[in-house]
Amino acid sequence: MKLRNWANLSALALGIAGTSLALKSVLPQHFATDQAYETQETFPDSSTWPEIEVTFLRCGHITLPEFLVVRGALSLVPHVNAYSAVLIRHPQGTFLYDSGFCSDIYTFLRNQSLLFRTLLGSFVFEQALSSHLQQLEVKPDDLDFILLSHLHWDHVSGIPDLPGVPLRINRVEYEAARAQLSSLHTPELIWQFMGDNPHELFDCTGPAYMGFRSSYDLFGDGSLVLVPLPGHTPGNTGLFINRASGSRLFLVGDAVWSAENYTHPATMHPILWSMFTSDDASARQTLIDLHRFYHRHPEIPIIGMHDAHMQKAFMTIEEKRLVEIGTGL
Ligand SMILES: [Zn+2]
Repeated sequence: MKLRNWANLSALALGIAGTSLALKSVLPQHFATDQAYETQETFPDSSTWPEIEVTFLRCGHITLPEFLVVRGALSLVPHVNAYSAVLIRHPQGTFLYDSGFCSDIYTFLRNQSLLFRTLLGSFVFEQALSSHLQQLEVKPDDLDFILLSHLHWDHVSGIPDLPGVPLRINRVEYEAARAQLSSLHTPELIWQFMGDNPHELFDCTGPAYMGFRSSYDLFGDGSLVLVPLPGHTPGNTGLFINRASGSRLFLVGDAVWSAENYTHPATMHPILWSMFTSDDASARQTLIDLHRFYHRHPEIPIIGMHDAHMQKAFMTIEEKRLVEIGTGL
């Protein structure tokens, strides 16, 4: 065989290998979700649950093709990832879960690398956190604290609108961020957003809760229960909201981007998954835990902080419920 033919053959072989690798990277992946699974889950005492108001405050979004958000989706359908905060009004305190975007966000991002600004910073800005709060007639002084699901730039980026409001952070997450153990690509930016706001660290060292290994009961009445959902970052923290009326819900930080990530379950596209996951094994285990929880409790919405679809669906039902209460229907 002539040298040129060998070269063509090698190029063809490389091409086939490359194509099959690329194809493999988007195909669905097996998760061991079908094994017998026993969980000690007792139904929590609901007699102490108060009325709690929950409002998603969407500050911006980015649109991605679905195959990047759900591995195996093989679809270019646009998927909207939101950037949101959640306002939670409980009789013992009013606080935010995550913080959305501050009004000055572009000033903070101005000095970031071109790569950051092109990839992560290419979101569509919609409404600043301060503007949302003003609209709802919530003054900064009304807020007792901001609870952060984890310390990535897009979850702390609303804090400059609320100087002085204490930040509550899972100790595991805080220490990992300090040691730069998690996949923080922009550690200095995180601390800039957090500014001089005081920090209060908490530990999820309470008993197992709803099938999750440990917990922290925020107000001691069983209505707001934090659980660790590690993997995306070491201390990514979920929040169960249990209330006297309206559906219960489970906020899960960035453990998932979309409901499909736990219903299948499926990671994101491997390239994004490796960029945004600090520990592959624990992040997959968290997806399996959420998948099992979803099957045990389909009545409790599991909502990721970027899941625009679920957030909108929740708010539609919630607004209707509040109107019905208001009009006495
Ligand atoms: Zn995020």
